[in-house]
Amino acid sequence: MIIQSSNVWIAGNFMPAQIETTGKTISAIYPYGEKEVDVDYKDNWILPGFIDIHCHGAYGYDTNDAEEDGLKKWAKNIVSEGVTGFLSTTVTDSKETLLKAVKNVADVKDMHEAGKDGADILGIHFEGPYLNKEYKGAQPEQYILPASVSEFEEYQDAANGLIKVMTIAPENDKDYALTKYASQHGVVVSIGHSACTYEDAYLAIANGATSITHTFNAQTPFNHRNNGIVGAALRLRNVYSEIICDTKHSTKEALNIFFQCKGKDHGVMVSDSLLCKGGKPHEIFQFGPNTVELSDDGTAYIQGTHTLSGSTMRMCDGLKNLITKANVSLEAAINSCTLNPATLLKLDDHIGKIQSGYDCDLAILDKDYTVVQTYVKGIAQK
Ligand SMILES: [Zn+2]
Repeated sequence: MIIQSSNVWIAGNFMPAQIETTGKTISAIYPYGEKEVDVDYKDNWILPGFIDIHCHGAYGYDTNDAEEDGLKKWAKNIVSEGVTGFLSTTVTDSKETLLKAVKNVADVKDMHEAGKDGADILGIHFEGPYLNKEYKGAQPEQYILPASVSEFEEYQDAANGLIKVMTIAPENDKDYALTKYASQHGVVVSIGHSACTYEDAYLAIANGATSITHTFNAQTPFNHRNNGIVGAALRLRNVYSEIICDTKHSTKEALNIFFQCKGKDHGVMVSDSLLCKGGKPHEIFQFGPNTVELSDDGTAYIQGTHTLSGSTMRMCDGLKNLITKANVSLEAAINSCTLNPATLLKLDDHIGKIQSGYDCDLAILDKDYTVVQTYVKGIAQK
């Protein structure tokens, strides 16, 4: 199959080009107009497929529900926003629930064929229980625990090794034992839901942490005398940092400052989406103890209040927000949902770029950032 567009994102720029796919792989890139094409996408953008490393659920399903059909439906439908790979993300809960949740992801992943069955399930983001109660956000306090290497091993066994990212509060990890263990066993350790100081965060990084979870949210803020985790995210530019790009969890001005500090290589857009993503306006969801209602524009609020209840951001809208509202450079914005998460997960040798030999994972967007088509492993999803 050969497709073309006058705007293919290659090596940090748009260029007119043709993409040839053989099986699931990009087999060649040709000059625009050279060969006969199967589909001509005109001047629509052809981007690497989006990768969401922090998302709890959508379409009524939450990772902690541990239901096979819910996860399958999520993977099948998430391609509508250009996502080609994601980490199914847990929230703090009882050990029994978390063991079931991670096992369900492993079971579904076993029978899942990326492309035919939608987006690739890249693994699990384990958010909690090793957090700080003071910055718990929406994480249920009664299940928050001190970090434990032996317990984490049980979770990783149940997950069949699929835990790829873990959010942890370093001050709850004595002598950085779990940070060291996990980072030395191929798990990205991400600092979040934490009350730690700038200096603690720096030490956690020195002991193996390589990322900061949803920067600005649920962590010590920036103060010019007490720089906090936000200060670490902004100052330590080679550390990856997640950011929710819905302009509600952080303003467009904060998004701009964030990307000015992180540059083009270390910002990671995440949706942090909850089960109500994909619902209709005024649809009601039960999420833990809270009744959540979607507003006219699809934002999730605790019913009868103006309290945000998680995100319903679609990744294509996050990209639109960064470029059109937050005035973030094209390269920093596009990398944040493609190459940077792939690099953080050490998958950038086969996903995150449009290049011969890479998997054919593509998101094709029109001028309004509407997804025209998504390819997962060479298979058109519409
Ligand atoms: Zn969180």
